[in-house]
Amino acid sequence: MGEINLLYERELHEECGVFGVFNCPKASELTYYGLHALQHRGQEGCGIVVSDTEKLTGVKNEGNVRFVFPESVLKKLSGIHAIGHVRYSTTGGGGILNVQPFLFRHGDGDFALCHNGNIVNSQVLKQNLERKGSIFQSSSDSEILAHLIYQDSRVKRIAAIKEALIYLEGAFAFLVLTNDRLYAMRDRHGLRPLSIGQLENGYVVASETCALDAIGATFVRDILPGEIVTIDKDGLHSDFYSKDTQSKICAMEYIYFSRPDSDILGLNVHRSRKEAGRLLAKESPVEADIVIGVPDSSLSAAYGYAEASGIPYEMGLIKNRYVGRTFIEPSPALREKGVKMKLSPLRSIIQGKRVVLIDDSIVRGTTSMKIVEMLRQCGAKEIHMRIASPAIIAPCFYGVDTSTYEELLSAFNDVEAVRQIIKTDSLAFLSMEGLKEALGQRDFCAACFTKQYPTHLYEHIENANKDGKF
Ligand code: SF4
Repeated sequence: MGEINLLYERELHEECGVFGVFNCPKASELTYYGLHALQHRGQEGCGIVVSDTEKLTGVKNEGNVRFVFPESVLKKLSGIHAIGHVRYSTTGGGGILNVQPFLFRHGDGDFALCHNGNIVNSQVLKQNLERKGSIFQSSSDSEILAHLIYQDSRVKRIAAIKEALIYLEGAFAFLVLTNDRLYAMRDRHGLRPLSIGQLENGYVVASETCALDAIGATFVRDILPGEIVTIDKDGLHSDFYSKDTQSKICAMEYIYFSRPDSDILGLNVHRSRKEAGRLLAKESPVEADIVIGVPDSSLSAAYGYAEASGIPYEMGLIKNRYVGRTFIEPSPALREKGVKMKLSPLRSIIQGKRVVLIDDSIVRGTTSMKIVEMLRQCGAKEIHMRIASPAIIAPCFYGVDTSTYEELLSAFNDVEAVRQIIKTDSLAFLSMEGLKEALGQRDFCAACFTKQYPTHLYEHIENANKDGKF
């Protein structure tokens, strides 16, 4: 093992994860394990709200699932229905007030909600609601749905939810829990994933299928774009808030965010990454001695590249998994101090070798630069970087924390310029055609590679236009 350790931070951050159970004994315990399986989607805060069919009770806090829910806390949350959330702060920033689920006490019945994604017209909706008298508990965009639902308390709740969703634009997977119902809904573009599973006589809903597997639930189906699924004592009921739907699942869910053991729209994430690596080897071959991947999300693509090229796969970089509580703190200052993962090279493997270095993406480029420098210090003879996705040239406004062009190295630099900045011997990205093939020709959002956004952008386009980038 090399003695050089690289402190590095993931350059892209996930946008939260949601999990819900209906009609299952020990609902809070199941939600705990479900959230634990989704922990990679957010470590800054988490919460669980349970229903014992008469009342809702919740606990939430900053920190990861194991920290917020020791056994003593979990025991107090008794009920048969529950929803839970893991958070990485996007719109609204960090802080306990923005940790979900939000629990609302209301004369017509209490309810809780949680959300994965980002509402792109949140500013204008919030201003309108505040003008009408709504008082927000948090600065999170997720709370807007609750206020929209209760604009008119005369209508039935499912009608109110349908009506409210029509106003929202952007990416969302929402869960709403009442004493005796669980509602699960996806935006009409299908940007964020949401799947349903069955567990004995009950149902489970999760951002990723790995969370269904974690509790032994059987996959039933994905919730469709624009669909609201109501789960009650009579089972599942499907409804749609919009007929104007499209299937634009976020490509980054496959490339980077989701766990390799999750399936999205019937395609396993590991398989799609491996296929991307295989196609990358065909598109951009190079003579080399070993293929290494940047842990963890790039390892599948590295296997694919090695398999297709015939160049041996090697474990050239090791990630320390025990980063402790520092990883939960969101503020930049604390990140600088502690939220960095330790990455160590295997000097004896790398020394004197021509290395193909596979990564899933380049965002700011700082991580790539550090890794390349470290490999050179370990004696790598040549470094050929291959990226298992196209170059990121535009920000995401759907819940991923790349909201400005300045954060994106490829927004201002072509491939050769990026190569010179990160100091590799060669550099190549997967083509858009390659990405489409890796994702089985599914329709998907690729706006960060193409600037073709599937929704209106409202205030975001105004902000971006100030820089003259659109
Ligand atoms: S812009 Fe990129 S990161 Fe954002 S939803 Fe689309 S594919 Fe995903």
